[in-house]
Amino acid sequence: MEKIKMTTPLVEMDGDEMTRILWKMIKDELILPFVDLKTEYYDLGLLYRNETRDQVTVDSALATKKYGVAVKCATITPNRQRMEEYPQLTEMWKSPNGTIRSILDGTVFRAPIIIDSIKPAVRNWEKPITIARHAYGDVYKSVDMYTEEPGECTMTFKGESGVEKTLSVQKVDGPAVWQGAHNKEQSIRSFARACFQYAIDTKQDLWFSTKDTIAKVYDGQFKKVFEEEFESYKAKFEELGITYFYTLIDDAVARVIRSKGGYIWACKNYDGDVMSDMVSTAFGSLAMMTSVLVAPDGTTEYEAAHGTVTRHYYRYLQGEETSTNPIATIFAWTGALNKRGELDGLTDLSDFAKKLEQACFDTLNDGIMTKDLVGLVEKGTEVRSVNSSEFLREIRSRLEKALEA
Ligand code: NAP
Ligand code: MG
Repeated sequence: MEKIKMTTPLVEMDGDEMTRILWKMIKDELILPFVDLKTEYYDLGLLYRNETRDQVTVDSALATKKYGVAVKCATITPNRQRMEEYPQLTEMWKSPNGTIRSILDGTVFRAPIIIDSIKPAVRNWEKPITIARHAYGDVYKSVDMYTEEPGECTMTFKGESGVEKTLSVQKVDGPAVWQGAHNKEQSIRSFARACFQYAIDTKQDLWFSTKDTIAKVYDGQFKKVFEEEFESYKAKFEELGITYFYTLIDDAVARVIRSKGGYIWACKNYDGDVMSDMVSTAFGSLAMMTSVLVAPDGTTEYEAAHGTVTRHYYRYLQGEETSTNPIATIFAWTGALNKRGELDGLTDLSDFAKKLEQACFDTLNDGIMTKDLVGLVEKGTEVRSVNSSEFLREIRSRLEKALEA
């Protein structure tokens, strides 16, 4: 069989630990034999980030802006413990995901990969629920303080033009706590655009929720900006038969639990932090969760939602064959290849990505899975627990059959 051709390179961001090992296995077993793979390679492994003083992360984000599509392996975000583990580190480098997100001005969409034999904790969920979390401001960029005596707290804005605005926050008769939070209109606008764009790309309805009945100006601005931005996407939504739906956060929570799934739920920063953990846990497994970063102009970066699976890596280093789940990382590759195919008009490439995803589903539906999933399947399902390399070989044999057909 002739290999599938590509015209524009994918930006490939390599990473760390067990996922770096899986990265190469996935490429060798499932991609390189079938695709004449064109990538622009960036090594975001911790040591190379250190060697380049993190320039490689910035370069990879700029390349993503240039080409439009990237696929990323999980990476270590160093903390104190990592500084001891890697004494050669000259700085506690920032999270690569944070750096890339701020350069692309993107929003992260997290969606579960669902199979029949693993039922979500919420029984009526049939389709994935994708959470879009706004990643700027609110309580995450707030200042707070404690005061001990009776008094009044005010909030003052000083404009560069000399304009001043002051509000009384509250008069208190004893000790109190205070918090000052903000968001930027430009950031809310980018968030809205990324959400509408992703809804169009994935042909799903978009829900957005805030508490604008209480925070009339603050959350009211979020609602207003979404309404304004929607004007430019309305026609496309109508054409695709999808809808944009705004409701209060508490109403949204109730509707989400009663729903069948199959939509995107856009959340403010804090709501997204909390709700994404709830939704992903209810769907079953972090190893079956994909993550996509979408910029307002449609630039997209695909990855798995889980980390570098450190504990498995240390067992791997001792010579053990681990049963680490590669599904989310494979779906990062298929997401990126499919998108590249769509942008470049390469039907073969998009078809290949879909067949590879189907081969993953077929393998799982045949009861062949990694250890992490075995405990999650419905009672009575016959399963065979395999290590990562056996699992990839099983996927490959099903993929080969699908490609021959
Ligand atoms: P993690 O790598 O997601 O792993 C936590 C645990 O979840 C694992 O020990 C494993 O449980 C299970 N697990 C996760 N993915 C799995 C998979 N594909 N197959 C099987 N089991 C899986 O999170 P972490 O241990 O908190 O973080 C490790 C490193 O990853 C950190 O340095 C962190 O900075 C980084 N990280 C990176 C990203 C990213 O690049 N996007 C995201 C999160 C974390 P068992 O050990 O019980 O089998
Ligand atoms: Mg959280």
